Amino acid sequence: MSLREQLCEYGRRAVELGLVIGTSGNLSVRDGDRVAVTPSGAALDRLTPEMCPVVDTDGYLLEGELQPSSETPMHLAVYAATGAQAVVHTHSVFGTVVATTMTELPPVHYNALLLGGVVKVAEYATYGTAELAANVRAALAGKQAALMANHGGVTVGATLEQAFEATRLLEWLCEVYVRGLSVGKPAILTDEQLAAVVERSLNPPEFPRRPSP
Ligand SMILES: [Zn+2]
Repeated sequence: MSLREQLCEYGRRAVELGLVIGTSGNLSVRDGDRVAVTPSGAALDRLTPEMCPVVDTDGYLLEGELQPSSETPMHLAVYAATGAQAVVHTHSVFGTVVATTMTELPPVHYNALLLGGVVKVAEYATYGTAELAANVRAALAGKQAALMANHGGVTVGATLEQAFEATRLLEWLCEVYVRGLSVGKPAILTDEQLAAVVERSLNPPEFPRRPSP
């Protein structure tokens, strides 16, 4: 699948799963210096490959008639600072709830380790600005996900599929936390408990075959 076809595919899935509504949210995927990004002002479930602009890593438009997403500077800042090959940004409900009420999402489930543990909330700045891009870059350091204060979430991956799955996981973790608050005080996993999970995942059990009689 071409870079632009991937944007159409995952744009459609993001809308189907309720992670974005209307024209909110944006995705990008890179190949070397070329970055395909969703266009500004277009519904993500109605994209065609031709609609998706291609920019270089300096932000110059290489292909496409439509303007790149206004959040393109943030995507490019993430590429410049990390080895990511894809970036997904949404205004998903539970992620945005956490991003408007907290300064970080504590690890209440061990799957948070897949995103780097604690998810930080990047300081608020106006959308599309270099300031927001810098804040997101700082919050993402060493992690697969960050939240953006009063705005939404952003995830990265080695592929667009990985970045997209990270967005689904981020939303799930935020939903568990927010729903947990309505029942009681969510217990937060300790560093020791998280270290034990890493240890366990590095040493999976091997199930021996039963010897034939
Ligand atoms: Zn946004």
